[in-house]
Amino acid sequence: LLDENGIRCDGRKIDEPRKIVIKAGGLKNADGSAYIEFGDNKILVGVFGPRDVHPKHMSNTDTGILRVRYHMEPFSVGERKRPAPSRREIEISKVIKEALEPAVMLEKFPRTAVDVFIEVLQADGGTRTASITGGCVALFMALKNHHDDHRAIKSHIAAVSLGILNGQVALDLDYKEDSSAETDLNLVMTEGLELIEIQGTGEEAPFTRDELNDMLEVGSAAIADLIEKQKACLL
Ligand code: UDP
Repeated sequence: LLDENGIRCDGRKIDEPRKIVIKAGGLKNADGSAYIEFGDNKILVGVFGPRDVHPKHMSNTDTGILRVRYHMEPFSVGERKRPAPSRREIEISKVIKEALEPAVMLEKFPRTAVDVFIEVLQADGGTRTASITGGCVALFMALKNHHDDHRAIKSHIAAVSLGILNGQVALDLDYKEDSSAETDLNLVMTEGLELIEIQGTGEEAPFTRDELNDMLEVGSAAIADLIEKQKACLL
């Protein structure tokens, strides 16, 4: 996965992210929306709400609730994916919901729901991290449009994947790398670079504490850059 100069298959350096595109807006029926690319991942996010909850019994009198549906289009991967929601999509929806909750003050919108719909148009490894990063932009746009309420925004949230390739820490793995990396780890952080989630396993090749620290260091720098891009596109 690395050539003799330490360059990756797609020409990137080991700690270099893929080309990132983040655009706020685009869907006129949504309260907030965003389009994001991490390399060949192409993802659209639509946010609806805060709005009445249906079914009503799911509403909470003390706070608003966040609901997330992550969906991969059947044509988003080389081998056609079955259109029915898979266990993987249900699990990733939950991961994204938990990652985005700390971004906003849902308690300001009791009895309402904020619905986040994520459509993966093209996937190439790291769709959950790209979805979290783009989802935050769409979510902020929805809250800003709703009662003009900036005060309900707590912190930008962004995410990246990291792995170990040939014993070195690599940033933002594509599908090919993800499939053969010794370790892969998803990192979600706030704008104060506090950790929201670290999701990773070293079952096939256990990693050391030093390697974990290196992944956190490379990952936090990348997240800080992503948050700058989120801010720029929301101006
Ligand atoms: N993938 C695929 N078919 C599927 C599910 C995933 O080809 O049914 C690919 C896709 O490129 C995805 C990658 O496998 O981005 C890694 O999937 P994973 O479950 O690790 O989630 P992600 O890295 O996208 O967050």
